[in-house]
Amino acid sequence: MRQVDFLVIGAGIAGLSAAARLARHGKVAVCEAESAPGVHASGRSAAFAHFDMDDPIVRALTAVSMPLLEEPAARRHPALFLALEGQEAALDRVEANYRVWEPGITRLDPQQARELVPILKEGSGGVIGALLDENGRKLDAHAMLEGHRRTLREAGGEVALDAPITALRHDGERWIADTPGQSYSARVVVNAAGAWADQIASLGGIAPLGIRPLRRTVITFDMSPELDVSGWPFTKTVGPGFYIEPEGRGRLLACAMDEHPSEPCDAQPEEEDVALAAWRVEEATTLEIRRIASKWAGLRSFAPDRRPVAGFDRTAPGFFWLAGQGGFGLQTSPAMAMAAEALACGLDWPEGLRAAGVEQAAVSPARFA
Ligand SMILES: Cc1cc2nc3c(=O)[nH]c(=O)nc-3n(C[C@H](O)[C@H](O)[C@H](O)COP(=O)(O)OP(=O)(O)OC[C@H]3O[C@@H](n4cnc5c(N)ncnc54)[C@H](O)[C@@H]3O)c2cc1C
Repeated sequence: MRQVDFLVIGAGIAGLSAAARLARHGKVAVCEAESAPGVHASGRSAAFAHFDMDDPIVRALTAVSMPLLEEPAARRHPALFLALEGQEAALDRVEANYRVWEPGITRLDPQQARELVPILKEGSGGVIGALLDENGRKLDAHAMLEGHRRTLREAGGEVALDAPITALRHDGERWIADTPGQSYSARVVVNAAGAWADQIASLGGIAPLGIRPLRRTVITFDMSPELDVSGWPFTKTVGPGFYIEPEGRGRLLACAMDEHPSEPCDAQPEEEDVALAAWRVEEATTLEIRRIASKWAGLRSFAPDRRPVAGFDRTAPGFFWLAGQGGFGLQTSPAMAMAAEALACGLDWPEGLRAAGVEQAAVSPARFA
């Protein structure tokens, strides 16, 4: 039986970013079911950070995180938000929300938007207005995960791979968790199992919070070889539509921003979602997508109010929830790790979070009581 202070379940961005901080306060072990970190949501994301997020708490967590998203795991890259026909009000709303945190954004007319992304259509079905944020961040999920893993290792922590937690019980004082090769005794269990977060709670005899995995599909396709798209902004419609993002010199990533309820699983792309992504892009641009270069799907997991969760369970001492990172788990991970460290270690609530208007109650699992 391995004795640790904190046992973190899941080596995605939530688990590893929190583990790296918790290692300052005690012995940490991370158990990951897969043979590498980031195999699920964290390795399948579009990996971009911006403020076009519906929820004010998510925007505030993003604001706290932005200065901490640094090279080499994050680099500045512009983001362009498009209004298609009928989305004028949504563009106004996104602008107002955005200005709170990024007052330097600028309004563009369709012609100016087309100068940045020349494939955009004007007129019927095309772009009618846009918003440019020069300070978005292109994230490198792998570099983020590896950075946290290194910090954790340097602090004496460990990551066990191929180590699914198969049983979890409280012996009155500590949590006992079993993996096929090793058992752990921990003062605190951190449930950072992403789409499996409710299942982990059930394993420990704890009521689930209602964390819902929603599948989203992404495609990539190649542009004509003479066109260098690497400087194009991350480009997203403010209402239903799509986003596109450069993947190197000659490739674009596209997503129809679809959401389909799913069981926790190794999500796979469905043909109709692949077709929808291509169709939505073709509708609003001059592109004809002849061949899909790659496609994948991932699960974005949401709490019932679509805000993330960090905090001890109300009924189970030492059981800490770090879940519901939805479609913003990479870009909010620095702030969420900070919150998790404070709450799991009984420290003062971080001033940076308070100053941004994020109180403990906003992320607490107790809000679902
Ligand atoms: C298509 C797509 C696009 C996205 N785009 C963005 C974006 O642009 N920006 C952004 O910030 N976010 C984005 N996201 C969201 C982001 O990827 C997630 O919010 C984030 O990765 C969630 O991290 P996590 O650590 O909670 O989950 P995960 O990365 O899924 O990690 C959970 C881990 O727990 C492990 N686990 C489960 N059960 C057990 C068990 N019993 N024992 C041990 N381990 C277990 C799993 O194997 C998994 O590795 C996107 C997501 C998708 C799918």
